[in-house]
Amino acid sequence: MKIAKVEAFPVSYREPTDHNRFRSVCLVKITDSDGAFGWGEGCAYFPEATRAAQKLIEGFAPLVVGESPLHIERIWLKLKEHSWWYGTGAGIASIAISAIDIALWDLKGKRLNASVLDLLGGPVRDRLPAIASLHGTKADIGAMADEIAGHTQTGLHGAKVGFGKAGDARLGFDEARDLEFVDAVMAAMGPGKDLMVDLGVRNVWDVPTAIRRAKAFEERGVAWLEEPLGHDDPKGYAALRAATGIRIAYGEREWNADGVKRIVDSGTVDVVGLDPGRVEGITGFRKAAEICALSRRQANAHNFSTAIVGAASQALSFACKACALLELQPVYGPAQKDLVDRPIWHTNGDVHLPDGPGLGIVIDEDMVLSALMDT
Ligand SMILES: [Mg+2]
Repeated sequence: MKIAKVEAFPVSYREPTDHNRFRSVCLVKITDSDGAFGWGEGCAYFPEATRAAQKLIEGFAPLVVGESPLHIERIWLKLKEHSWWYGTGAGIASIAISAIDIALWDLKGKRLNASVLDLLGGPVRDRLPAIASLHGTKADIGAMADEIAGHTQTGLHGAKVGFGKAGDARLGFDEARDLEFVDAVMAAMGPGKDLMVDLGVRNVWDVPTAIRRAKAFEERGVAWLEEPLGHDDPKGYAALRAATGIRIAYGEREWNADGVKRIVDSGTVDVVGLDPGRVEGITGFRKAAEICALSRRQANAHNFSTAIVGAASQALSFACKACALLELQPVYGPAQKDLVDRPIWHTNGDVHLPDGPGLGIVIDEDMVLSALMDT
């Protein structure tokens, strides 16, 4: 049994959670000589990056074809070594490797009739709490708070809200408005629910602003503050860490376990974002999450893409000691809900345990073909 075919599918779709903007990702289907196949996803998000990922995957294909679908680590190392000049363990090469790696784990599970979770060693926790992943949407703070609380009333244990996004929310720019928002959301959700604040690229805070906002959020019990100083500001984060006790989250823009080790070793990150569609796949995520666990840091899947990355995030979050919860998108989106037969979801706020071989999902291939981008 050998890998026979590697196919890349650059697709784009509207993302309701992100103000209906078009997002694109590169999906991968890997088929073996017996006709078994697995699916993966690279989170390139932008059309030009998705097309570039497609080309890299097609370039990687001859290195993957002919290998055993059971020998994932060997293939993963081969691709990293091959892309030494243009990737050096980073950039779109990491996204392409991620897509192939996730497809290989799905395929291996199907070959062995085992779930990816079991291949990873099985669940290390009995339950995995879920929180809502949302963006600020409206001009009216009360209406936003009610909308967020409506989602957490389904049992979700809290909400992470993206600031600085498209739309009329205007969060992350004005301190008084931000504090009014936090107070309103906490009051609307009620006790026992967590609020996480995630700064967007349009929010550019200097260190004193970040410290002032972090202190005010900390007083209000905000569970964590994400990317208040972007993804790469070691001195700024050190100053923020020294000045406040709020949990600081970043890392989702790292490309690999080496980058995660660097930020963990800086002592300035408490919750490390990891995107399996970017951080060199399930293999890369697990290595990075192990680094987090060794330093007693929380790892948190950046589960903000299609149902394929959702299923990978579900398996990893049950399997990795460093993970503690999982973000779900409660706003209906076809890429999460319609692309697969059994999308990841929760009951009373707890994520379902995955089952079925591989990622435990069947892809709607007609939907993939109908979403193909021009290349
Ligand atoms: Mg984020």
